[in-house]
This record gives sequence, structure tokens and C-alpha cells, in this order.
Amino acid sequence: MSTDPAANLPFFYGSISRYDAEQYLKLAGMADGLFLLRQCLRSLGGYVLSVVCDLEFHHYSIEKQLNDTYCIAGGKPHCGPAELCEFYSKDPDGLVCALKKPCLRSSDTAIKSCVFDSLKENMLKEYVKQTWGLEGDTMKQAIISQAPQLEKLIATTAHEKMLWYHGKIPRQESERLLYSGTQTDGKFLIRDREEPGTFALSVMYGKSVYHYQILQGKSGKYSMPEGTKFDTLWQLVEYLKIKPDGLVTSLGDACVSRAAGKIPSLPATRRTGPNSYTPPPHAANVTSKAASDVPADNVLPMDCTGFNPYHDPSDIKKFNIRRDQLLVDEVELGSGNFGCVKKGVLKADNGQMDVAIKVLKNDNENLVKAEMMREAEIMHQLSNPFIVRMLGLCNAESLMLVMEMASAGPLNKFLSSRKDTVTVEIIVNLMHQVSMGMKYLEEKNFVHRDLAARNVLLVNEKFAKISDFGLSKALGADDNYYKSRSAGPWPLKWYAPESINYRKFSSKSDVWSYGVTMWEAFSYGGKPYKKMKQVEVNSFIKSGQRLACPAKCPERMYAVMQECWTYKHEDRPDFKKVEESMRSYHYSISNKVNPEGSATAAEPNK
Ligand code: ADP
Ligand code: MG
Repeated sequence: MSTDPAANLPFFYGSISRYDAEQYLKLAGMADGLFLLRQCLRSLGGYVLSVVCDLEFHHYSIEKQLNDTYCIAGGKPHCGPAELCEFYSKDPDGLVCALKKPCLRSSDTAIKSCVFDSLKENMLKEYVKQTWGLEGDTMKQAIISQAPQLEKLIATTAHEKMLWYHGKIPRQESERLLYSGTQTDGKFLIRDREEPGTFALSVMYGKSVYHYQILQGKSGKYSMPEGTKFDTLWQLVEYLKIKPDGLVTSLGDACVSRAAGKIPSLPATRRTGPNSYTPPPHAANVTSKAASDVPADNVLPMDCTGFNPYHDPSDIKKFNIRRDQLLVDEVELGSGNFGCVKKGVLKADNGQMDVAIKVLKNDNENLVKAEMMREAEIMHQLSNPFIVRMLGLCNAESLMLVMEMASAGPLNKFLSSRKDTVTVEIIVNLMHQVSMGMKYLEEKNFVHRDLAARNVLLVNEKFAKISDFGLSKALGADDNYYKSRSAGPWPLKWYAPESINYRKFSSKSDVWSYGVTMWEAFSYGGKPYKKMKQVEVNSFIKSGQRLACPAKCPERMYAVMQECWTYKHEDRPDFKKVEESMRSYHYSISNKVNPEGSATAAEPNK
């Protein structure tokens, strides 16, 4: 299971407050260089290093970076908390002093867990079960490697499980609830505000109820006005229990929601119905010793410390795959200008897995080789459940890029061959996953530039992954867009006006392509602007016209497409926004799925 990477450090205390940390350091004698490590209460996956020097306390936050390294602001990155502490024990490198003496946890002091720790495992299981279904080893194994990302995804919705969260209740109702029962200071609840995605805090003090708006900054962090910023709502609440941070009082007891713990923030579980897609036998593509040891079927992969060849992103190095680890099948999964993609098997010490291998043509020129290296360079930096993972490169008879296998193939082909069996709800789920993958790219400042249904690959009908990073670019930290020097053989029908007119590419232009991809999906693999030439498409768009709503597409989904096709990129939503819209619609219809498995769409299909 995904345990904290600091869990085995004897000087790690878990989720304790600054005050508690200082108490432990006092008890241990306040020597120079005495230190301990604790969980950061604000940022997910982060830590705080508390150090004593000259009888004073110093607290340094350690942030977990997007590439899974850890660093103190302005300091060097390290691959884990242990390595970081080791480093600062040799070299103060900007700290008040080097770490000299760990403040060890006594045998009767357990690592303090946070509210989320106890919920995490069940939420992960629930999410995996409900979003992807459990059928197929593919799914189980694919998920092992994704636990860290999923954890983050889940942490942002964990407030819905908390006793103090009441969902969408009006302000008057919150007052009624707080005034009923004991009127103790600090009694509080959190509710949704009218504007979707925003929250209010209602708190009792001196027998009156005070309401506060919870702010959410551009980066998505939550805070009270001028207060500390937190990755999630529940971290903010935990903090406000310790410190009022501008409120009339610090928070006390939760005003308990009757629906607490029952609110289905995730799609309802579905049984395997007659319409469900069973992955072909070869889709069970990862075999491992550990997996066969798993006793019951309801045990998830993350329950066992099993085979996981790509858990650690730093494992993937250039040309890390030896030719003798790779079996290249004759079966071609697809082909392009560069060569072809073949099925294969990757062997590691502890198991083997099916892979997809992009093989360059034998007579390839250096130019093509360089292009593939660039594609690998991009993929190497990405780690997300909804993005095809690169496992490595092998340089043998030809250059080979080895990827995890998405055996159900491209989304457009998949849908056009299953028009009768794939429901709209399944498409919504898949497109929501694509939006999550794209939101991740947007956060990391990568532009895809070739997002289209042909480049969304499926593991099975419940699991989509974005692929084909052949045109992708990493933007500089201060750049909002990439400008190409010249036009190329581009998929113009997927491109935003600013890309066509000025060769400018940004996450916003990817949003436009996402709209076209959605259109393809809801048309079951239809071709956008089918009978039109590119010049016609350009003037069509310029005159304000757009692709029509596909026959089976729900209105709310067409509304999202239209937003994606906002002419001016400044006014177009970003993926953060698009993902929210997709999520809220996805959850709203999934909750209406009855347990027998027949989906009832939330709004009539047009
Ligand atoms: P191109 O740049 O030529 O479009 P892609 O990366 O899109 O190259 O791959 C071409 C085809 O190969 C895809 O359409 C798909 O059918 C197949 N393919 C690529 N990657 C995978 C994968 N990871 N799993 C399964 N099939 C794949
Ligand atoms: Mg492609």
C-alpha cells in the first residue's frame, strides 16, 4: 500500500503541529542541530523540517515537486525525505546549521496520522472500483503504479467524506443547524456556495453564527482572506482548528451532516451487465509473482507489494532497456511515417508485461531519430494515470520506444465499432479521464498539439490514456505559449484559430482540440468537418459557426464543446475549468445508475 516515504525514519512524527514539534525538541534538550521531520499540514505530500539552533526553532517546509522530487525552497531537489535529510546533515546549504542530531520518536510515540490517512485507503479502493470497474488484471496492475497520483486526485475530494461537510445547503439552513443543539463556540460546518466549486464556512461564536467565504486562488489552493494557503479544504479546516487565522474563533466541534460519509462523490458501483465490455484475454497483460499470491478477488493491487516495473520515475533512464529484455512481436498495432508500433513483452527480474513498442524504420535518418528522442524526452517527464507511460528506450537493431500497452486501441476506432453497445455515460467517463490527463499537462506546462480521438488510447472501455507526444512541447516556466517557426503537416481541423493564424500553441489551444476530440467521441468516431476543405473550415469558424451537436450527445456536453471553441483564447476555459465541468456532469449521471447496471442518463438524449 502507498505508505508515507518518511514512515520508516525514526525522527518522523507524522501530522503534528508546529507547537507539538517544538515540545518534542525541548524535551530532547535543544542542542544545536537537533531536528525532526513532520508532515506538512498545507501541501499534499510535503514535509516540514524543524531544527534547533542557538536555542531557537527553525521550521523549513519541504515541498513535493511535480516530478516527485523534494526540496526546501531555493534548495537542491532530492529524491526522497531521507535523502534530503542526509544531504543537510553534511552541508547546511542555506539552513541555520547542519542537521546534527535526530530527535528520535520514543517507543510510545506513534507517527501521528492525519484525517485523510484513515480515509485514504477506502477512498482509493472505492474510486478504482467505481471509476474503472474491477474486471481484468490489466486494470488492477495498471493501478498499482498510479497510486500516488490517484491519492492526490482523491485528496482533493476527501472533504466530501468529512462530518462537517454539508454540500449544497442554503445559508439559512446552515444557521438553523448551528443554532439547534448545543451552541458551543467554534461549532462549525462547511457548505457549497451558489457558484459551483466555491465554499463557505459557517461558525458559531457567542451564540451567533458567522459566515466566511473560503477563497480559492488561481493555483487552486484554499485559504481564508489573507490567510495561509492549503492544497485541500480539509487541510484548511484542520489548520483552523489549531489557529483562528483571522476568524472570530478557532474551529471546534463539527456540526455533523446527516449525510456525512454517505455522500456519493464518486460514480455508483456497477455490476457487470450485458452491455459491459470484457477485455479480450490478451488484455490481461501483466503477470507477476505477487499478483498470483493475492488470495481474494476483492483485494486490490495496491494491497500487495507486487511487481511494479515503473513505480519509481527515476528508474526510467535513457536506453534503460536491454535488447534481451524485450520480445518484439510481429503484430503491428499501428503505423506512421516514422515506422510502426508493435506489440511486445518486457521482461524484468520480477515479472513481465505486455508493451507497445514504437520502432523506427531501419533506414531511418538521424532527423527521425532525433524526433523520436524528443518524444521520449517529453514522455519521460510525465507520470499520470491518464497518460500513456513510457517505460524506456532500447537502442538495438533500431531505436525502440517502449510504452505501457493500451490494448483496446484508439478511441475513434473503438467507438465506431461499438456504436450499439457503448453508452453515452461510458463516453462521458472516458472524456473526463482525458480532461484529467490534460489538466495534468497544463499544470506541468506541456502542450500536446495533437490531441484527437486517434491519439486517445484505451486500456479498456473504462480507462483512457492520452498518447502520441510526437508534436508536444515543454513550455518555459515564464512562457504562455509556444510559437512554431514554420507550419508543418498539422492536424488543422483540430487546431485553434491562433494556432492556424499565428502558429501559437498553448494549453488553451489544446482545449480547442479537446472540444473537437469530444465531438469525435460523442459522434462515435465521426470525422469532424467531414466534407469541408481546410479553407472552408477556417471561414466557417471565423464566421462564428461550429460543429453541430452529435445525435446522441447530451446538451451539457455540447455546451462544454462550445466553450472549448471560444474564438479568443483569453476567453476560453482552461483545463482546470473543463475538468470541473466534465467531473460534475460525470458524477451527476453516474449517481443515477441503478445497481442492476442499466444506465439512466440524467437528461434525455437528443
Ligand atoms: P503517430 O505519430 O504515427 O500517430 P502514435 O504514437 O499515435 O504515432 O501511434 C500510432 C498507432 O500505434 C496508434 O494509433 C495506436 O494504434 C498504436 N499505438 C501507439 N501506442 C500504443 C500503445 N501504448 N498501446 C497500444 N497501441 C499503441
Ligand atoms: Mg497518432
